[in-house]
Amino acid sequence: MPKLKLTSFGAAGEVTGSCHLLNIGGYRLLVDCGMWQGGQEGYLKNWDKFLFDVKSIDAVILTHAHLDHCGRLAKLYAHGYKGKVYATPPTIKLAEIVLTDSFNIMKEKAARKKLPMLHSSRDLKRLYESWKPTPYYNQVNLTSDIKFKFHNAGHILGSAIVEITAGDKTVVFSGDIGGHDMPLVKDIDYVPHADYVVCEGTYGDRVHEHLKDRNQKLIQAVQNVTLNNSTLLITIFAIERTQDILKVLNDYYESHLDFRVPVYLDSPMAATATKVYKQELEHLNPAAQETLKRDKDIFNFPHLDITNNIRQSKKINSASPPKIIMAGSGMAEGGRMIHHFAHYLSNNNNHVLFMGFQVPGTLGHKILNGEGGFNYYGKDIPVRAQVDQIDGFSAHGDLNALMDWLDHFEKPQRIVLAHGDQRVLESFEKTINDKLGYQTTISRQNIPINLN
Ligand SMILES: [Zn+2]
Repeated sequence: MPKLKLTSFGAAGEVTGSCHLLNIGGYRLLVDCGMWQGGQEGYLKNWDKFLFDVKSIDAVILTHAHLDHCGRLAKLYAHGYKGKVYATPPTIKLAEIVLTDSFNIMKEKAARKKLPMLHSSRDLKRLYESWKPTPYYNQVNLTSDIKFKFHNAGHILGSAIVEITAGDKTVVFSGDIGGHDMPLVKDIDYVPHADYVVCEGTYGDRVHEHLKDRNQKLIQAVQNVTLNNSTLLITIFAIERTQDILKVLNDYYESHLDFRVPVYLDSPMAATATKVYKQELEHLNPAAQETLKRDKDIFNFPHLDITNNIRQSKKINSASPPKIIMAGSGMAEGGRMIHHFAHYLSNNNNHVLFMGFQVPGTLGHKILNGEGGFNYYGKDIPVRAQVDQIDGFSAHGDLNALMDWLDHFEKPQRIVLAHGDQRVLESFEKTINDKLGYQTTISRQNIPINLN
């Protein structure tokens, strides 16, 4: 019976930087290696030395393409990792889009703020050559005794739950999980048996607004731009949420042909990611597949304008209101939204919608919480526009979805809680103890947990 030891090197009592090392009797398996996000301080943490011996890692598994799960994979190669990275085929496609974009942002920040690079373009290339595409439900034998399999996590396209079997013990990593009736991806899989579960808890203390309510709020904001002759700014996360939003807008515009307010999708990364959704139809839920098969593009509608370059992006500003601008980054940590903020935030006629969780320390968090304006190339921009948040577009399952997923295990020996604010995880832990009676541990950075 191999000894199982789990150590979290990121996303322990926090929501970013996912990086978990499972030591299986000396075999060292790394699950995710993501970036820390959250203002300058969070970003700089990515340059800290790895607190484990990178060269001794035997294999890496990636759960999904979000930057906080894949963002430091190329850094592993810069520090001597030579092995494979296992991921589902759609995750590989999306991760390359996300990582290439992140590398370009890093280069720009390196030049502007005189920061060193986290890794070179050669390391990124080595990562791209080391993918091991692994379809859902295919068993992979890492050794004669250690195997793993991906299940659908229902979070974003390609997202996976990892079921690892070592001898007669099973460890399941949730990755980030969604839930049921998501607009695009398939319903989450239940995994009936596990001895140990490493579970995310981003929304472990709250319940999302209903799908219909969130759509209503978005459409209300869209309609208001004509009433106020204003500009609506929607901050977007390039993967899943953008496509969810496009689908809602698509349905509205196609059933209201007299509504002619232009929507600018000002994010080349989001536009490229949307193409991957169209290529990976089989991984979408039956309703979304059906609509797309009927030759209807659910991500394209009248008056949608996708900008490809900076020149087109700048032209948006000269178009007179009413208009709607969708741009990244999701937490306003960079990206084209910053320029639009500089242009529109000081006008109280305008409206900003944040479409999901804003990590403390980010500009998004600051603006949403009314903590003042921001400095744009030496100029102070006051925030006078109306600022709101719609939580329901999150690709993360809420407390109900997390509890439902955990409830489908046959009596696991222990649940390790990771990927969530400490306060949220403590509340989540109490709910699990009270309602399911499972034994729980909240993971702590660099503190090993002996599972058996
Ligand atoms: Zn995620």
